Amino acid sequence: MLTQLTWQLEGLFGLIFPEKCVVCGWAGGLICKPCRSRLEPYPLAPTPVGLDGMCVAWLYDREIRNTIHALKYRRQRRVAFALADALADVVEPPPGEALIPVPLHPRRLAERGFNQAEELARRLAWRWRLPVRADGLVRARETGHQAQLGQQERQSNVKGAFVWQAQRPPPARVLLVDDVLTTGATLIACADALRAVGTRDVHAVALARSLAPQARMLQ
Ligand SMILES: [Zn+2]
Repeated sequence: MLTQLTWQLEGLFGLIFPEKCVVCGWAGGLICKPCRSRLEPYPLAPTPVGLDGMCVAWLYDREIRNTIHALKYRRQRRVAFALADALADVVEPPPGEALIPVPLHPRRLAERGFNQAEELARRLAWRWRLPVRADGLVRARETGHQAQLGQQERQSNVKGAFVWQAQRPPPARVLLVDDVLTTGATLIACADALRAVGTRDVHAVALARSLAPQARMLQ
């Protein structure tokens, strides 16, 4: 309720003082229309083994990288809402009873002040009229940066890193939310933790995905 009131007030504020686009710097909203239209849709790709379905809005390229960078490192929560809105405008809601954001390790959460995946999930939940369950899935182990690792290494790096801690079990059909992915290793590790406590179906939704290394070589 309070969140929605805050969004409404921010919307009103945005009408009076138009915000600068985090990509191009012109006034026209946090992600202006021309910049939105330049985001490249992610091509159809097979679902990673371990997930029942995956939906990615955009290819992880320079434009979306700048935007997500603003979200993560300039601590602009409102960018998460703008990105979630842009995603909900181009993506049909995948099946699922509730949204679960990919959790940050508590130390990373303390550094950053918020979990960008949770901010995305909260706005998407509002758009798609679904609940958010952010109370159960936790990152029990720090996994460091995965950027330099290959697919196998990524998978073993995050294996067992997530556990379900809430007393109430997770929903049977879950929609995992993350910002960016490469191989999907983190999402698969989350799905494994959920299935271990009763979830049957795990779909994932993400803003952007970089092309897998083999796909990049083909270009
Ligand atoms: Zn722009």
